[in-house]
Amino acid sequence: MLPVKFRIFNEVAMRKTVRFEVVKRATLLREIFLIFALVFAFAFLVGCGSDEKPIFEVEVEVPVPLTPEQEKINAILDSPELFEPVVEGTVAAEEAFVLNKAAQVAVLCYHDFHVSKATEMVMPAAKFRDQMRAIKEAGIPVITMADFLAWLREEKNVPDPCILITIDDGWDAVHSIAFPILKEFEFPFTIFLYQDYLNAGGRSLDLDELKELMSNGGEIGCHSVTHTNMADKAERDPAAYREYLQVELGQSKRFLKEVTGVESKVFAYPFGKYNDQAIEVAEDFGYEALFTVNGRRASWYDPRAELGRFVVHGDNDFNFNLATGFRSRDGIEADPSLSTGDAKLPFTTFPAPEERVKERRPEIRVDLSGLDDALPESIEMKVGGFGSLRTDFDPASRTVRCRVPQSMRNPECLVYFSVQVEGESKARSVSWRFYFDKNALYLEKPEETRQLPPAVDEPGMERGVQESV
Ligand SMILES: [Zn+2]
Repeated sequence: MLPVKFRIFNEVAMRKTVRFEVVKRATLLREIFLIFALVFAFAFLVGCGSDEKPIFEVEVEVPVPLTPEQEKINAILDSPELFEPVVEGTVAAEEAFVLNKAAQVAVLCYHDFHVSKATEMVMPAAKFRDQMRAIKEAGIPVITMADFLAWLREEKNVPDPCILITIDDGWDAVHSIAFPILKEFEFPFTIFLYQDYLNAGGRSLDLDELKELMSNGGEIGCHSVTHTNMADKAERDPAAYREYLQVELGQSKRFLKEVTGVESKVFAYPFGKYNDQAIEVAEDFGYEALFTVNGRRASWYDPRAELGRFVVHGDNDFNFNLATGFRSRDGIEADPSLSTGDAKLPFTTFPAPEERVKERRPEIRVDLSGLDDALPESIEMKVGGFGSLRTDFDPASRTVRCRVPQSMRNPECLVYFSVQVEGESKARSVSWRFYFDKNALYLEKPEETRQLPPAVDEPGMERGVQESV
């Protein structure tokens, strides 16, 4: 950077009449001649014989002299110590906050826990501990809901990638089983509670347990009053439907504030179900984020009323791996710490890992020609947001093909693929992700429906959240 100097100077010059004797000032012949000619003409005009000495008058502009104060200031400005040399870039780096809008947040969604039982919606303690350990060992930070919201508000950055742990419904096993494990790993968590199940006896959380969780890293969010499918009642009389939505979204928020003293800024749709009216009504209650269970990572660009979560099942690792397979970013390899299987696989895929495609409904292909003993009937392909998809296997080329059933709304697509190899006890699996050109998102009309793939977030209902549609 070039040094810059500052000086005071007066721009306004004084007009002054300067008198001087011609003879004294003139030094050049030409000037003397000119002056003599002028003086002669002057003398001729005013009359000869005057006794006065010839004086020549001109008007010149002279700078206004600086005042003593101004001179002092200039002396200070001249001093070399005043301006430290500035190294380019340092000011910008220190002062300008740049929001990382590209950060990836995997929002995990758990429900009930059990010491040993494992179903889709009931997570056994040992598996939960394994998953928490895998997150810790993979070095993926777990953030608080407060951090997540601050990032959405552009106030701060979140680590990229990172994880947000949420637990729905309010089972007492959150307190007895999940909480000690979360505490062990020092992970923050958010509990989405629905009014009718809090302090309801049986296996529900009671208020004292909830307060204990809240004073140990637990944040709370609303999960409605009655835990009903909010998109399902839309055929009701419009006024009654609106009133119902206002109760589910508004009353539940007031209730939580009343009993806990804490304002809840987030909402999780029961079963992940919602529609435009639910979003509209939610706006009246000042929620900053509303979560689905659509099996997508939350992105800063997502609508705040349609943020993605992954339901983590108690009887398999598919969604957990899909959500946390951040390490596949650098290539087609599963992270062994997340128990996805072999790290190196002789698979080639289309789209390739990290590839950008133009199509919003791409065909996904996996070439198994390098894996002679792969059993086609064991093939499983899961795609984020769509769940398990039907695949076709071409025995000649040994290629697995699968078409994404609907246009992708999220520019990122996560794929999980597994296949059993004859003679091996454990299936080989891999996850990777690819993108489609974001501009395509804005060129096409948005989807007509907001209906998500079948979703479940309660025991007793055996449909998978990310099953094929
Ligand atoms: Zn629920």
